[in-house]
Amino acid sequence: MKSTPLYCVIGDPITHSRSPEIHRFFADQQADSIKYESKRVDEASFQNFVRNFFESGGAGLNITLPHKESAFLLCDELSERAALSRAVNTLFMDDLGLLHGENTDGLGLVRDIVNNHGIVIRNKRILIIGAGGAARGVIHDLVSCNPASVSIINRTHHRAEALAKYFNVEALKVKAAFERNFDLIINATASSLVGELPPICSAMLAPNCCCYDMMYSKEDTSFVRWARENGVSRTMDGLGMLVEQAAEAFFLWRGSRPITAPLLKILR
Ligand code: NAP
Repeated sequence: MKSTPLYCVIGDPITHSRSPEIHRFFADQQADSIKYESKRVDEASFQNFVRNFFESGGAGLNITLPHKESAFLLCDELSERAALSRAVNTLFMDDLGLLHGENTDGLGLVRDIVNNHGIVIRNKRILIIGAGGAARGVIHDLVSCNPASVSIINRTHHRAEALAKYFNVEALKVKAAFERNFDLIINATASSLVGELPPICSAMLAPNCCCYDMMYSKEDTSFVRWARENGVSRTMDGLGMLVEQAAEAFFLWRGSRPITAPLLKILR
């Protein structure tokens, strides 16, 4: 008899992860049978953990902070998205023992914005705030939606410049961005984690501007709160992105596509 396939999310810290409940929900919905665990794995143990997991028959891993780049470096085969973003959040091993890496964050963000929130990205002027792994993972998918422009700002400007050059988009100094306005502003910084605001001012908000914080929490994040206080009516946090990136990983592993709306309703 075949044993139940085992999946796991690994990161450090990991206690906050909602991936186990998301994937268990998807499996129930699809009448599928999987085990899904979460494990704290520090940087020193990362490689060994991944190798042992797959050698002992593990079916797939989700990778979260701080291991997405280490996972990228470990893969034998990469999807185009993973190769471009140089970060991997989903791993599986094929029958030949080759480790495959995918990055589903960008698709997750775009599906949340477009499908769940009904926002058209085409012809929009997008500002991404932040130049870390989260920003890197979503630029390719945003550009694929044919926005009017994609600009990046970051507290540490040279990181925004390097990222913009890599993806052939625009880096702005914060002061210059304060003199422009945008239709969609995405906070891809970790500022909301500590209740701070990224570099932002109300002059950057075009009429009908939409604001998206990749972070999510039960209460409004500091960025979402700021946007509301400044008259933005379309504010979103990253819970939908989390669910959509997980749905894509589930599809990759299991071959069936979960319906995300019921889960989003429950989680909210
Ligand atoms: P990261 O690689 O560590 O990058 C952090 C970024 O945030 C850098 O641009 C950094 O600027 C900036 N930053 C940190 N603290 C700041 C502050 N107080 N004010 C202004 N800028 C600040 O982290 P990451 O992987 O990109 O993750 C960023 C956020 O995205 C996290 O909150 C994470 O939870 C979220 N995320 C959500 C999802 C989802 O599915 N919803 C997926 C991925 C990530 P410097 O370069 O100047 O240090």
